[in-house]
Amino acid sequence: MWQLEFLRKKIIKSALIAIPVILFLSLNTEVEGAPPEKQITVVFRFDDYSSLSSTEFEVKLINTFRKYNAACTFGVIPYACAGDEHDIRPQEVVPLTLKKAAILKNAVKEEILEVALHGYSHQAIRKKADFDYTEFSGLDLNSQMEKIAIGQDYLEEMLDIRIATFVPPWNTYDLNTIRAVEKLGFNCFSANESIEAMKSSLLKFVPATCDLIELRQTVKSARRASDRQPVIVVLFHEYDFLENNKENNSSLCFSSKESMTRMGF
Ligand SMILES: [Zn+2]
Repeated sequence: MWQLEFLRKKIIKSALIAIPVILFLSLNTEVEGAPPEKQITVVFRFDDYSSLSSTEFEVKLINTFRKYNAACTFGVIPYACAGDEHDIRPQEVVPLTLKKAAILKNAVKEEILEVALHGYSHQAIRKKADFDYTEFSGLDLNSQMEKIAIGQDYLEEMLDIRIATFVPPWNTYDLNTIRAVEKLGFNCFSANESIEAMKSSLLKFVPATCDLIELRQTVKSARRASDRQPVIVVLFHEYDFLENNKENNSSLCFSSKESMTRMGF
């Protein structure tokens, strides 16, 4: 069972600044010797929600965020690759079902979730032996725009919302991905810390900075850091829980009763 209750007493409410947004958790870090204005922002990013992912687990996850009055950004795959996502041969895709869309829609209405577009099908276009897995990097601009736009249109129609954040599968992308995402009207981009972008880019970059296991230590480090407003982006997947909760994966415990608010992007 995840024991992140240590966060609970440290969390304060921050203001809703703007929509669309990536959701975040604001921690009051009134530790000895630290000025009161010190504030640590923790963003939770859960990837790989699709028609093929575990609905039972995801409902428990959403319920847990609701229970603690917290929120999370879900990276959603609109047309999930039907087979092995690492197999580069042509494959069928499974569109997000109405049932899975309804779960997201309700949670978005409750302000528990922000939905981010997590690629088109999450299928690799090259073997890992060449580079890392990727769905986009190396494709020309038009091809990338076409894939992203199809996924964006479908998700926005299914959920009846504008989607502001793009999360590339495997955190891999190139400058054409950035250009495509900008041209399609996204304003926030979350991959990992290896940021590649044009200076002219207007996108807000919110890279993942740690996983759940590292979160406790990362918050401790952030408290000691000279940065007065550090941002921690916690990337996690379903397997992070299942691998570590074989005996009791029905309990997901973390975050705060006080607040999860929104980053003003
Ligand atoms: Zn993914």
